[in-house]
Amino acid sequence: MTLDRIELDGVGSPARLADRIHELAPDLPLKFDIKALCHQLDIHEIREIDTSAYEAAIIMDEYKADGSILLARSSGAKRKRFSIGHELGHFVLPTHLPKSGGFSCSHSDLKSDSAAAKNRHARTEAEANRFAAHLLMPPRKIRANLTTPQPDLSEIVRLADEFFVSKEAMARSYVDAHRETLALVFLHRGKIARFYKPDDFPFIDVTIGAEVPEDSVATDHGLAPAQISEMEECDPSTWLGEWSQRKVGMLSEQVLAQRDGHAMVLLHAELAE
Ligand SMILES: [Zn+2]
Repeated sequence: MTLDRIELDGVGSPARLADRIHELAPDLPLKFDIKALCHQLDIHEIREIDTSAYEAAIIMDEYKADGSILLARSSGAKRKRFSIGHELGHFVLPTHLPKSGGFSCSHSDLKSDSAAAKNRHARTEAEANRFAAHLLMPPRKIRANLTTPQPDLSEIVRLADEFFVSKEAMARSYVDAHRETLALVFLHRGKIARFYKPDDFPFIDVTIGAEVPEDSVATDHGLAPAQISEMEECDPSTWLGEWSQRKVGMLSEQVLAQRDGHAMVLLHAELAE
């Protein structure tokens, strides 16, 4: 792999920039070495430190001649890999101009998505996430590695291992890349923690912090961590408001139980004619 940052000149969108790197390095394996890639793109140092002040940071001057990435030591290996992709995004995205010597990114910055971003800071963080997601999980490679056209959480679990990313990161990229109309709801101890939906999915009518809807399979699912329910049809009113229900012919849901009371729900909407 030989990459030169000059070959990225003139590309401004996070997704296009990640695509461009894959065009220049077409033989990158699914679990490619992101540190080696960073070194080729003028990141001279990637260092782990003991800190709770941030999840990841990049130090660079205003001209971005070179950069150093810092990672909180306590994070898992898959999360660190995504964090490196995110910081590389700040480094190569031409509109990301460092204030006071770089960027310092929190756990919530690393989950920021453009649909939910309400201010400039959140939008910048969402762009770095979009770059990292496209770099680590190119939609084309996700689609090429599906074993079934049917939406399925077990595919997300398998692909997360194959691409060496967290299940949540893969879940988001999977629903973006998949041809079906999909969304995700993340639960913690029976309450809605957050949700993620691409633009094509109808409005999800839930309140963050509220109890999981009573009619959902995710309520009292009784699954042990890592167990996955069947994909089951549910009443669209379980998750959707009155207006969105009219757009949906059939809604199905499937739940993955995770450790410490976490769970992930995959929603599949079959749109009305
Ligand atoms: Zn950031």
